[in-house]
Amino acid sequence: MTGDISIIDPAGALLERSRQAVVFTGAGVSTESGIPDFRSPGGLWSRLQPIEFQDFMASEQARREAWRRKFELDAEIGAAQPNAGHRAIARLVAAGKVSHVITQNIDGLHQASGVPAERVIELHGNGTYAVCLSCRARHELADIKTGFETDGAPPVCHCGGIVKSATISFGQPMPVFAMRAAEAATLACDLFLAIGSSLQVYPAAGFPVLAKDNGARLLIINREPTPLDELADLVLHAEIGPSLIALTADAGH
Ligand code: NAD
Repeated sequence: MTGDISIIDPAGALLERSRQAVVFTGAGVSTESGIPDFRSPGGLWSRLQPIEFQDFMASEQARREAWRRKFELDAEIGAAQPNAGHRAIARLVAAGKVSHVITQNIDGLHQASGVPAERVIELHGNGTYAVCLSCRARHELADIKTGFETDGAPPVCHCGGIVKSATISFGQPMPVFAMRAAEAATLACDLFLAIGSSLQVYPAAGFPVLAKDNGARLLIINREPTPLDELADLVLHAEIGPSLIALTADAGH
């Protein structure tokens, strides 16, 4: 079933009936904070092809380009703050309605909006710091930036390992702990809210399907149609912030 803001009532009813819901977010939840998504017109992919993990590992030139882009993007969006959608989701978690927020986003804005870190499952990592791919040591972006601006060379760990932003690139293995946690949360919920994702990136987009197969209701909120709309119990093709404000007000949260 698809519709617009006029079906906030049925969406509120789904939420009200739920005993344990899970929120699953994509880049669309952060566009109202000024962070471009990937697939909308003007999104990141209309500007740049992603650098695949294999290329990052194989070529110093690719690593230099990845870090150049990273700092350029951070200069554009680094000061982004949580928006009304993030805050509505945080209220649902605080109210005990939502057990976990599974996110494909790497911006840390769910935590910044007040969702406790242990309730946020980051499927594609976190872009606010970096890690050594050999010894897993954490590296701070500010330190890397200083070095990069001095000699233009991509960072190397004290152990000699390659340092990469703590995000998951295409071609990089998914984080095992986060995937397991997301699966457990999905299997435990009776309502799965997929918000602001084109639902095209797998394996992440497999979680709404898993929830549905396991008997949960599926509610999708996204401006554009997704390939999983037909599977959903309810779809809102609407803006996320206003929809979540209306939905949480409707449900008294
Ligand atoms: P996507 O770009 O494929 O899809 C985003 C969807 O959100 C689109 O269908 C778009 O129509 C919708 N949308 C955008 N703004 C909206 C709004 N205000 N209201 C309603 N709908 C809106 O994003 P995805 O499905 O998350 O997949 C992209 C991948 O890119 C993810 O794996 C993620 O890791 C990464 N990414 C993350 C960020 C971030 O951390 N903020 C930003 C860009 C990309």
